[in-house]
Amino acid sequence: MSFKARRKRAAAAAKAAGVDALLVTHLPDVRWLCGFTGSNAALVVAGRPVLFTDGRYTEQAKAEAAGVRVVISAKAAGVAACEWMAEAGVRRCGFDDGNTTVAALTGMKKVGSGKTGRLTFKPVGWLVAKLRWVKDADEIATMRAAAALGCELFERILTFMQPGMAESAVAAELEQAARLAGAERMSFETIVASGVRSALPHGRATSAKLPRRGFCTLDFGVVLGGYCSDMTRTVHFGRAQTGERKTYDAVLEAQEAGVAAVRAGVVTSDVDEAARGVLRRAGLDQWFTHSTGHGVGLEIHEGPRLAKSRPGAREGAPETLKSGMIVTIEPGVYMPGKFGVRIEDTVLVTRTGCEILTPCTKAWIEL
Ligand code: ZN
Ligand code: ZN
Repeated sequence: MSFKARRKRAAAAAKAAGVDALLVTHLPDVRWLCGFTGSNAALVVAGRPVLFTDGRYTEQAKAEAAGVRVVISAKAAGVAACEWMAEAGVRRCGFDDGNTTVAALTGMKKVGSGKTGRLTFKPVGWLVAKLRWVKDADEIATMRAAAALGCELFERILTFMQPGMAESAVAAELEQAARLAGAERMSFETIVASGVRSALPHGRATSAKLPRRGFCTLDFGVVLGGYCSDMTRTVHFGRAQTGERKTYDAVLEAQEAGVAAVRAGVVTSDVDEAARGVLRRAGLDQWFTHSTGHGVGLEIHEGPRLAKSRPGAREGAPETLKSGMIVTIEPGVYMPGKFGVRIEDTVLVTRTGCEILTPCTKAWIEL
């Protein structure tokens, strides 16, 4: 889908939300709507689009945001955009309250109530972010390539890992190989959590040494063409001790049940329950302390969230999966002071089920 077509959809959504113009300041949204990748930007979507940024990006903005008028300003991009809208006679501006600081909104309102005094602001939530949840063919191709690179890196790191090696050495090797293979950066800080540290759901690689006997969880992702990959595998050093293999098998069964539940039209909380129910029946659900998965794309954590339904909760209400969404399925069991296991795939939602984008083995691996 072209940037122009995406802006058309955003403009239609803005109109439906009852605003004359949309102020887009969340950088992944800006990138998705016009291609600009700089670190300071505000895009106004209303009639002809206008991109506001600063002098560092004069050349880059023109090159990346073809067909969009670029305004270079020394002011904060959001403020410059609001001044422009006030001048242009915009009355009701929609803004993303989920990604706007209190200070930024104060600055915007000051402009709105200034000389022209007529620009008002309406929170329109994650309006553009929600459009991004469903990926188009180009995005799917890019994410398929990113996920495939992740799998290659995993298979390669297995031949490198040895007991006694620091977790950080494993992360360094993985990240160097990723960069050499063309990754722009990692999607997030690489997780290498070994031994008792595997019980930390987000155990970043430390100087801790890989054990002679015990688990090691690897959770990592690469960024290709701006899009993130995300996968987790848990491997074991030496022979399994009591409970370890049983826990691994239960997490794997939960993960596969989650994957099997994914299909367009299914509610996210039902996918969560498919995975969580397996762990409940195995008596392990009290140790599964997070949601089953999340959307992935230009950001490592996007919507929809695949979580338990919590009646009355304002955020994270169940959503219906649509074809083209790309989500993770990542149940885990974490027993403090003992060990933890997580297995995560990234999958593409289809009409009839899903395509696993990270198809490398989930079978028990003993190193
Ligand atoms: Zn992950
Ligand atoms: Zn994830």
